[in-house]
Amino acid sequence: MTDNRTMQLPPQLETKFNELIGRYPIKRSALIPMMLYAQDQFGFLGDDILEEIAKRLDLNTIQVEETLAYYSMLRRKPAGRYHIQVCTNISCMLRGGNELYQHVQKRLGIGNKEVSPSGTFSLEEVECMGACTGAPAVQVNYDFYENLDPDKVDALFEQLQAGKQPKPVPVISGSLHERLPAEVPVISKRFGIPNSPKIDVYLKNEGYQALEKALKQMTPDQIIDEVKKSNLRGRGGAGFPAGMKWSFVPKDTTKPKYILCNADESEPGTCKDRPLLEMDPHQLIEGMVIAGRAVGAHKGYIYVRGEYRYIIDILDTAIAEAYAKQYLGKNIAGSGFDFELVTHTGAGAYECGEESALMESLEGKRGYPRIRPPFPAVVGLYGCPTVINNVETLSTVPAIIRQGGEWYANLGTPKNGGTRLYSISGHVNRPGIYELPLGFPLRRLIEEVAGGVRDGKKLKAVIPGGSSCPLLSADEIDVAMDYDSVAKIGSMLGSGGTVVMDEDTCMVDVARRIMHFYAHESCGWCIPCREGTAWLRKMLDRFHEGGGTESDIPLIEELSKNMLGRTFCPLGDAAALPTISIVKKWRNEFEDHLHGKCAYKPAEMIAGAH
Ligand code: SF4
Repeated sequence: MTDNRTMQLPPQLETKFNELIGRYPIKRSALIPMMLYAQDQFGFLGDDILEEIAKRLDLNTIQVEETLAYYSMLRRKPAGRYHIQVCTNISCMLRGGNELYQHVQKRLGIGNKEVSPSGTFSLEEVECMGACTGAPAVQVNYDFYENLDPDKVDALFEQLQAGKQPKPVPVISGSLHERLPAEVPVISKRFGIPNSPKIDVYLKNEGYQALEKALKQMTPDQIIDEVKKSNLRGRGGAGFPAGMKWSFVPKDTTKPKYILCNADESEPGTCKDRPLLEMDPHQLIEGMVIAGRAVGAHKGYIYVRGEYRYIIDILDTAIAEAYAKQYLGKNIAGSGFDFELVTHTGAGAYECGEESALMESLEGKRGYPRIRPPFPAVVGLYGCPTVINNVETLSTVPAIIRQGGEWYANLGTPKNGGTRLYSISGHVNRPGIYELPLGFPLRRLIEEVAGGVRDGKKLKAVIPGGSSCPLLSADEIDVAMDYDSVAKIGSMLGSGGTVVMDEDTCMVDVARRIMHFYAHESCGWCIPCREGTAWLRKMLDRFHEGGGTESDIPLIEELSKNMLGRTFCPLGDAAALPTISIVKKWRNEFEDHLHGKCAYKPAEMIAGAH
């Protein structure tokens, strides 16, 4: 709808806006991408462009404003020409992210969310940007620079000051290593092949064979049965069996159905979907079309976190290639089956990784979770049946269909089929992305695969699968990495983001940093999470700075326990669980802080200690 336009837009933005509005059955879905693209054009979102967007989407400006305010990447004020975002979340923190942030502040002479007087730079301390294996990392506008130190940052800024932005290395590839004997490459087998995102390379390497098979030799029920046989459990974190999820989609509905890929990976410590998107986009596309065929869906969306903007370009190119070769669109591979696929960008909100919040966000609203039941398989996107799976889950589907569910199941343990990708970060010699069979021992993961704790230090703690998991201590690592075994020792396999901490890590600081993240990301909808995370953040800050008291320790524990199971979505538990485990297992470090001692700086007394 362009009747009520008033603002003359640059032609490229005009085209983009029209294309975005055409992507969705409900225009409002275009709101967040439109704001992000407008911000790219103008540097910020002023009143005039917001009014223009509102008119084009038949919304009030207040609806636009209230949505905007929810997403951390959307700005009402101009940023610098180079917007420098420094991650200080857990994986970066462990490898010098805080020190790097201080160095950048000093060098630029500006603080958080400030712009340099010349307008060249602006600075922002950000949450996990999905570069954990390349920590510490910085984003300049949308480009990632990883494995940094103050000297490398200085060199980068000198070039930026001279008006030359160095090309970022396709950095996640930098987190790849020579294949280790322990690895079982199924979904990562094309990583490292030159031009792996190209369809011709994909086709030469088993690409789209599974789709041909699914379309021409299998019924939808047979596809679902094969996925059930594979024991594939959702790789986003919850571990729900994928085949069962698909089987919940009603067959006898007249409503459209959707396949939704959750590419909003933002659990701190986790960056394993990024290489799948970056290096093998066709594998994901193929998985989504097969899922569509299985449940009778003809439209799919890939919801990509806003920070992964370069990946949207990779995906859009791959999607265009797939359309050109008839693996997307009408009558796919001559089978009579139709499937349309588009990308959608988020704009910085961890909560949108929760499946119902993601659907709200895709509908152009704040990412508040929905009341369930009904579950998305029955009432999902636009109120229609929706399969929502994570990138890794959907990327696994082609191999299962090609080689059989049983083959895949046998790679793992009886109830945990196949392999999974781990992003291992923190104090290890070889941080990186590795594909291993389910049930692989955590000890071998750390010592053999990731090369052990760096600098000959001793292991202190491990986050097995992203920051919402209870932490494991050094004497708990003789555990098989599968959903059930890790649950048995009181933690979770989670998202595959394994974070390793050495003996010099201050666990009070770890608790503090994790709580900062959840307090920042709480959507504020329910009181235990909104108030609990904010209160705990303040308390842990004070404690870490030496201002804690004896009675704070049980209070931190109690406040966390009070959030458990009392919040509307899992974010409350995600904030509580690691905190409870840290207080329980490293209580001595809290007590040390009361006496001015910190494991990170053993030689210094904490200033404010009693
Ligand atoms: Fe929002 Fe937190 Fe409640 Fe989830 S638990 S709905 S993030 S306030």
